[in-house]
Amino acid sequence: MVHGPGGAGKNTLIRALVAARDDVSFAVSATTRPARPGEIDGRDYHFVSHERFQQMVDDGAFLEWAEFNGQRYGTPWSSLAEIMSGGRIAVLDIEMQGVEQVRSRYPDAVLVFVKPSSVEQLAQRLRERGGADAEAIARRMAIARRQLETEAARFDHVVVNDDLDTAVAAISRILDKMPAI
Ligand code: 5GP
Repeated sequence: MVHGPGGAGKNTLIRALVAARDDVSFAVSATTRPARPGEIDGRDYHFVSHERFQQMVDDGAFLEWAEFNGQRYGTPWSSLAEIMSGGRIAVLDIEMQGVEQVRSRYPDAVLVFVKPSSVEQLAQRLRERGGADAEAIARRMAIARRQLETEAARFDHVVVNDDLDTAVAAISRILDKMPAI
């Protein structure tokens, strides 16, 4: 499971990891937030209405779910089942409340914190990604700083996402050491 501040380059890292290993797949989450330019429904997220999300909560369709920035995000059991029935490793990209839920239910889950090499780099990535004004970036930065300071220590592994290939190799080594499920 991968967690890190917005703009830490997690998406790129996960994509590279999945491309590098055919035994690893990304568990696609459901979210109520609108798609960003370039995002594809079913690949990046399952984009659903608030009503549909609530229905899924009521149906017990989620391994975990949480609210973040006024939107809801959750990992559907169906995304996991598809991956794990094929004997592959599921990689989840989830925020902290989700991490805590997974950790309490599945103590064996491997938790990886993706850390941007610097806070400045993080701000730069957020700006490049577009769609966020200065105030929104400042807000995201405040969240990110807090995450960096207090959260990283609670993970099994911290991977610094400075160089993509190095970070992919680091996560790959972590996966190789995981006990077989
Ligand atoms: P974004 O809107 O930037 O794609 O994601 C915002 C936050 O939601 C990120 O921290 C991301 O890790 C988290 N997130 C994405 N999918 C899920 C999910 O299924 N469950 C939880 N708990 N968090 C998620």
